[in-house]
Amino acid sequence: MTQPMIALTGVTRRYDEGPPALHDISLTIAEGESVAVVGPSGSGKSTLLNLIAGLDRPDAGEVTVAGTRVERLGEAAAARFRRDHVGLVFQFFNLLDDLTVLDNVLLPAQLAGASGRGTRERAAGLLDSLGIAKHTAAYPGRLSGGERQRVAVARALINRPSLLLADEPTGALDTAAGQDVRDLLNDLHASGQTIVLVTHDPRLAQACATRTVSMRDGLIEAIR
Ligand code: ADP
Ligand code: MG
Repeated sequence: MTQPMIALTGVTRRYDEGPPALHDISLTIAEGESVAVVGPSGSGKSTLLNLIAGLDRPDAGEVTVAGTRVERLGEAAAARFRRDHVGLVFQFFNLLDDLTVLDNVLLPAQLAGASGRGTRERAAGLLDSLGIAKHTAAYPGRLSGGERQRVAVARALINRPSLLLADEPTGALDTAAGQDVRDLLNDLHASGQTIVLVTHDPRLAQACATRTVSMRDGLIEAIR
């Protein structure tokens, strides 16, 4: 059996107050899977995603991603791990407003030491395939929400991540833009990209995911 892309074993995360945000979660995700994590607000979805990304550490359990024990990494090593293996997309895009679209997309590549012509061609190719080539030289403030989210996806993909993580990627978009991002995630999945997609919207899960993990109160309630 090939090694899974993500393996969580007995993962618990407690914040100072209240019940654990995650309680003894175990979950395995194979390379090439597109998995949606759904559930009500506060059920632990973002906490789960942050642990997979190495943005946060569990109080107990193991988090293995692309062969790396992520929960053992220090902050700098976790940042390198993300740069090399993980593409992140958030609800509110997190683009830098004083950089052009192209420079936003190139930023993770530059942080990885890649700034040559090949990288710029890849960025242009991504913007083209995401339908936003005409905005290459624009600043994000001039773009619609859906266009900004496409830029964020291009930025997430520039370093060819093993894993794309998206937390409520359509949460701030209107219906039409949300549909565009759904289609985009679907295409990426079809091309073999491993995706974990957090959403409170079961329709988005249905549209893009081969498996849906339903969470409630820090527990996995169902996987189907
Ligand atoms: P979801 O993404 O499903 O809405 P979260 O993972 O953000 O849920 O939150 C799970 C639980 O952990 C909630 O009860 C939330 O209030 C709590 N929580 C999340 N982040 C923090 C934090 N930084 N400090 C304290 N409690 C937190
Ligand atoms: Mg959340």
